[in-house]
Amino acid sequence: MQTRLAPENVKRVTVYASSSNGLAESYYDAAARLGAVLGRAGVDIVFGGGGVGLMRSMADSALAQGAHVHGVIPGFLNTVEHGHKNLSRLEVVGDMRERKHRMIEDSDAVVTLPGGSGTFEEVFEVMTLKRLGQFLGPIVMVNTNNYFDRFVDFLEHSVAERFMSDLHMDMWSLVQEPEQVIEALHSAKSWSRDARKFAAVRN
Ligand code: AMP
Repeated sequence: MQTRLAPENVKRVTVYASSSNGLAESYYDAAARLGAVLGRAGVDIVFGGGGVGLMRSMADSALAQGAHVHGVIPGFLNTVEHGHKNLSRLEVVGDMRERKHRMIEDSDAVVTLPGGSGTFEEVFEVMTLKRLGQFLGPIVMVNTNNYFDRFVDFLEHSVAERFMSDLHMDMWSLVQEPEQVIEALHSAKSWSRDARKFAAVRN
C-alpha cells in the first residue's frame, strides 16, 4: 500500500479513542486502520494507554507497523484489564488531569476516534486550549458510522448562537475514513497564539 507521509511539522500525534469493548465491529476496524495509517506515515503516537476498546485496536495495529506508541495512564487504571501491556512506552501518572496534560504536552496534532464522555472531555479540552491559543495543532475527528455528526451539529449550533465565532470552525476538521487523516493534517488551517484575541465573541 502507498505510504503518505505526515506534514513535516507533525511528528507526534495524540489519539483519543473509546475504552468500550461493546461496539459494532466497524468501529474496531476503523480504529485499527487509523493505527496502520499513522504507523505507515511514520509519526509517533501518544494515547491513553488503555488495553481496551478502540484504544487497543488502534495501538496494536500501529505497533504492528513499527510505530512508537506511548501510552499515558493513571495508576488506578493500570490494572490487568485496563493497561496495554506491549507498548513502546507506558507512562504511569498520578491522575486523569496529569494524563490529559501529558497526552498533548509535546504533541503536534490530535486525531479522535469515536468515544464516550472520556473522549468528549479530551476533545473539548484540546479545542478549548486551541481557542485560547495554547494548543496550535490540527484536531481531526474520524467520523466512523457518522458518529460525530451530532457532535459537530452541536458545535455549529454553538457558533450559530454566538457562543463561539465562525473563526472557531477552523479549529477542527472531520473525515469519514482513517485513510483521509493524513490529508486532513496537511490541509488543516494554520492557527496562532493570537487566537486568544478572538477567543471571546465580541458583540
Ligand atoms: P471513553 O470515550 O469514555 O471510553 O473514554 C476514553 C478516554 O478516556 C480514553 O482516551 C482514555 O484516555 C480514558 N479512559 C477511559 N476509560 C479508560 C480505561 N478503562 N483505560 C484507559 N483509559 C481510559
